Amino acid sequence: MNGQNPDQKSRRYVLKAIAALPMLGLGACGDADSSPVIATSASPSPAATLSPTAQCADDDDATPSQTEGPYFTPNSPLRTSLVEGGMAGTRLSLSGLVLSTACQPVTQALVDFWQCDDAGVYDNAGYRLRGHQFTDAAGRFVLETIVPGLYPGRTRHIHVKVQAPNRGILTTQLYFPGEPRNASDGIFNAELLLGVQSAGGAQQATFNFVVQV
Ligand code: FE
Repeated sequence: MNGQNPDQKSRRYVLKAIAALPMLGLGACGDADSSPVIATSASPSPAATLSPTAQCADDDDATPSQTEGPYFTPNSPLRTSLVEGGMAGTRLSLSGLVLSTACQPVTQALVDFWQCDDAGVYDNAGYRLRGHQFTDAAGRFVLETIVPGLYPGRTRHIHVKVQAPNRGILTTQLYFPGEPRNASDGIFNAELLLGVQSAGGAQQATFNFVVQV
């Protein structure tokens, strides 16, 4: 955005991915309506060595917003795992940080995910594959889910809303690298690509959100 050249974007992407890699563990918890918040930080030590300011010093752009789409359901359950017994699909662990445009971690930020299932179907009657959580003291979230399937007209994606306490809501989508449909999806934005690594039969993905606070 704003005239960054591809190298800058690439560097930011790599740095963000590195920053998020050690961030595995349970996220914090709170309430969907953002009033009461329960901070249950695991705070593993790697966060202390990441020096987030230096890692995103060239990053003063907020994460791009995207359309909400037709399948958002408010008041999703508070949970860090969307995986249910017997659920088909490749397991996906998605972790990262919510950062301010000044590169500071945003604690107790609401992160609300929704996605389709392995067959490309959204649960619009209930809350299957929907859930929200709050970032911990290091600004970290961790989501256990599955790789979403494909449905007509779209590339593979996960929807998310991010809200720093008492701030506006960022609505956006996250994408998977190497997807054939990325090039033909009119909504796709390469700035919203996850960093993805295969781990056995599962995938680990990282993304850091940058929000105005
Ligand atoms: Fe969608």
